[in-house]
Amino acid sequence: MDQDCLFCKIVSGDNPSTEVFRDDRVMAFLDINPAAPQHILVIPLAHLTFLSTADESHEGLIGHLALTADRIAAERGIQDSGFRLTINQGPDAGQEVDHLHMHITGGRRLGRAGA
Ligand code: 5GP
Ligand code: ZN
Repeated sequence: MDQDCLFCKIVSGDNPSTEVFRDDRVMAFLDINPAAPQHILVIPLAHLTFLSTADESHEGLIGHLALTADRIAAERGIQDSGFRLTINQGPDAGQEVDHLHMHITGGRRLGRAGA
């Protein structure tokens, strides 16, 4: 855990969140400022900042994040209508929180990817 990391504090329960899923490696909670009718963040429990700091030992974890996101989308009724998984990395992507996270967005027709 990184003491200064907002998402580590959500993992530990020191900061509140509306949690929708947790297992031994990842958790998911509702985004506090949703950009779409469905906007969920899926994060590793362990503090990992960017994809660029991950290595082969993280391949299973990152795959698990994506599959978990798909299962959550199914549970929330947007698997068939469609959804988007996004990882923002670095300034041009507007990354705000330096704890790796995958956004699930859906529940309406989304704009062009990358806009
Ligand atoms: P980023 O731009 O880093 O990819 O996305 C960070 C996301 O975290 C944003 O969509 C923002 O709304 C969300 N967020 C920031 N602080 C909090 C918080 O304290 N709780 C929750 N649930 N979401 C947060
Ligand atoms: Zn963290």
